[in-house]
Amino acid sequence: MQQQRCDVVVVGGGAAGLSGALALGRARRSVLVIDAGEPRNAPASHVHNYLGRESTPPAELLAIGRGEAAGYGAEIVEGRVASAEKLPEDGAGEPGFRVVTEDGRSVEARRLLVTTGLVDELPPVPGLAERWGREVLHCPYCHGHEVADRPIGVLATGPLAVHQALMWRQWSDDVTLFLHTGPEPTEEEYEQLAARGIAVVDGEVTDLEVADDRFTGVTLASGRVVPREALVVQARFTARSAVLESLGLEPVAQEMAGAVIGTYIPTDPTGATEVPGVWAAGNVTRLTEQVIGAAAAGLMAAGAVNGDLIMEDTRLAVAARRA
Ligand SMILES: Cc1cc2nc3c(=O)[nH]c(=O)nc-3n(C[C@H](O)[C@H](O)[C@H](O)COP(=O)(O)OP(=O)(O)OC[C@H]3O[C@@H](n4cnc5c(N)ncnc54)[C@H](O)[C@@H]3O)c2cc1C
Repeated sequence: MQQQRCDVVVVGGGAAGLSGALALGRARRSVLVIDAGEPRNAPASHVHNYLGRESTPPAELLAIGRGEAAGYGAEIVEGRVASAEKLPEDGAGEPGFRVVTEDGRSVEARRLLVTTGLVDELPPVPGLAERWGREVLHCPYCHGHEVADRPIGVLATGPLAVHQALMWRQWSDDVTLFLHTGPEPTEEEYEQLAARGIAVVDGEVTDLEVADDRFTGVTLASGRVVPREALVVQARFTARSAVLESLGLEPVAQEMAGAVIGTYIPTDPTGATEVPGVWAAGNVTRLTEQVIGAAAAGLMAAGAVNGDLIMEDTRLAVAARRA
């Protein structure tokens, strides 16, 4: 980190952060991206539904993005930001922030764009984490086409499980709902499942069957093995909000159909948080955002940050002119 003070520090270099850095670099702002290098979709082999780059490996898409942002002067460094603090206003009334990394480096910036993403917390079934993003899946738009017409299981852990089963039925006519620790479906839901040809299996799933490094089925507490080639789970989406929390922001619970699906940091539509000078974009503030949406949100926030700096530059210029 060569710059001691820059216009904007971007915390997190995934799709949202790099898109913001690209736009800010093109707006002739000095930008430093600090990235811990753990994008959420790293376990997946390809990024889908990214127009113009369909089926690109996640690391390749980010490498392209880093090159594009760096091409407009953005500096991108590896590191994990531990905390950020608001600096006292200087004599000209300009606010600013100090960002400190876990290894003790610090940098100051006029504005912050925080794009730290979220953590997928998986249900506590042995083996799920090892196969996450490969055959243990959550998002039909990310993976549905790749497992189309295959035997799919849906692991119920909450009230959204029936909805998930009905969703995945769009991609395969062989879907089984494992009731596991989820609630008993209502009469209406049982009718919907039956009408769509979705099997329902009672009992807890205790293990995953794997052969030749492929997921082949689930084991129930009874010992019964049900062959499957993909297993859909409801992960809890927990915003990686530590940096924003260090600035005084609080994550709030996100509900969907009466179920809490995770936490996020609220912003306005441009990504502005309740702390003036701090923006957030991507999964840290919108849990269901996909890669292209995260990139779009990073761009939107970058525009707002640049607009804010333009107004500040103008205010400082007027004050200097009058002096
Ligand atoms: C298995 C899986 C497959 C997916 N497949 C697809 C798909 O095919 N298509 C699609 O559109 N979406 C897909 N998604 C969703 C996609 O991952 C997200 O939409 C996208 O990653 C959000 O981008 P982001 O920039 O907000 O966060 P991320 O991509 O997670 O980037 C956040 C970055 O910030 C860094 N970071 C975090 N904390 C700090 C810190 N304190 N200091 C510095 N850096 C930090 C992280 O290391 C990471 O590099 C998938 C998700 C999963 C889990």
